[in-house]
Amino acid sequence: MSEKIRQQENLIIIGGGPGGLSASIYAARNGVAPLVLNGPEPGGQITTTSELENYPGFPEPIGGFELSQKMSEQAENFGVRLEYESAEEVDFSGDKFIVKTEMGEYIADSIIIATGSEPKTLGLTKEDSLRGNGVSYCATCDAAFFKNKEVAIVGGGDTALWEATFLSKFASKVYILHRRDKFRGAKILGDRVKAKENIEILWDTEVKSLKGEKKLEGIQIFNNKSGEERLLKVDGMFVAIGHQPRTECLMGQIELDDYGYIVTDKKQHTNIPGVFACGDVQDPDYRQVVVAAGSGAKAAIEASEYIEEKENSFPAKEVKIKDFTGKKNEDSPEDGAEKEEAGLSLSLNLD
Ligand code: NAP
Repeated sequence: MSEKIRQQENLIIIGGGPGGLSASIYAARNGVAPLVLNGPEPGGQITTTSELENYPGFPEPIGGFELSQKMSEQAENFGVRLEYESAEEVDFSGDKFIVKTEMGEYIADSIIIATGSEPKTLGLTKEDSLRGNGVSYCATCDAAFFKNKEVAIVGGGDTALWEATFLSKFASKVYILHRRDKFRGAKILGDRVKAKENIEILWDTEVKSLKGEKKLEGIQIFNNKSGEERLLKVDGMFVAIGHQPRTECLMGQIELDDYGYIVTDKKQHTNIPGVFACGDVQDPDYRQVVVAAGSGAKAAIEASEYIEEKENSFPAKEVKIKDFTGKKNEDSPEDGAEKEEAGLSLSLNLD
């Protein structure tokens, strides 16, 4: 074995967003001891979402960053090891898989890729600073914050059309700003937006600049044929011009579709046995936290089975699992006192 290999693992999960963390929790509870490479800024895209209202189990909105922290904490309670490293390169050509990071190399029996995707941006000044304060990249996540307000959505593909229809149920008025005079998205979705009374389509229209300092107050738009400019007074701008799946580190090692998403089957298998993918990096359609978490669970169940059936798999690492058998400390003076943390050290081995 190469001297450069610094760590042997039975399962490496690349990506520490909801897909990867959910996968890690399921894998750990299945007796695998996964290592998660969650990059220098863990948590994935939800950390940039101010509030989530649609993740089950949270009747009050929960901050994206807080939800991500809870997921990490839950994973660590099951002994999942989280490393603040990014996969820079992979080699899936052998029986064991190699993952290179800036710190060195890992070798693993199985891999789950959960690197997510990022929304494409318009590249406007203030776009980043107003994100979460009027600028959004997800109508499903944020539409409810714009009840009875006027909003614009940029784009002419399926996502923009679907999201415009969704937004029209909340907002008093929705402008679709499309840079051409014909939609790219499906005709049925185009017909649907044209039939909505509170949706207005502005063809050949692009955004020039954003108004507002602490929150979005309007957008300066222009017609790219006539050159005419005007200020659109809207409280929200949804950018729906496509997503970029994060697959740079895979470098031709795995099958991708025409849009760059990893191709998976219903059980999250990729074209390489032992390599699975979950979350937004393989999901062009939904891109929801709950869907990513669900696909993470599936990937982990499949990966655990793969490892169990594989000959000569690396033994699972010794991990510390938080003890939730939780006999209440009888000496505890308070009812409902926190469950005792015993910190059992368990060696999990699949053999
Ligand atoms: P998309 O099909 O690539 O469409 C992107 C849209 O944004 C296009 O209309 C494009 O304009 C516009 N655009 C791109 N860059 C722009 C820029 N810098 N400024 C202004 N406009 C810009 O992306 P998508 O709509 O996210 O869809 C991606 C994939 O997901 C597709 O396969 C789609 O079918 C699938 N999807 C499916 C569903 C469903 O209901 N089944 C729902 C959502 C998405 P041009 O038209 O001029 O290029």
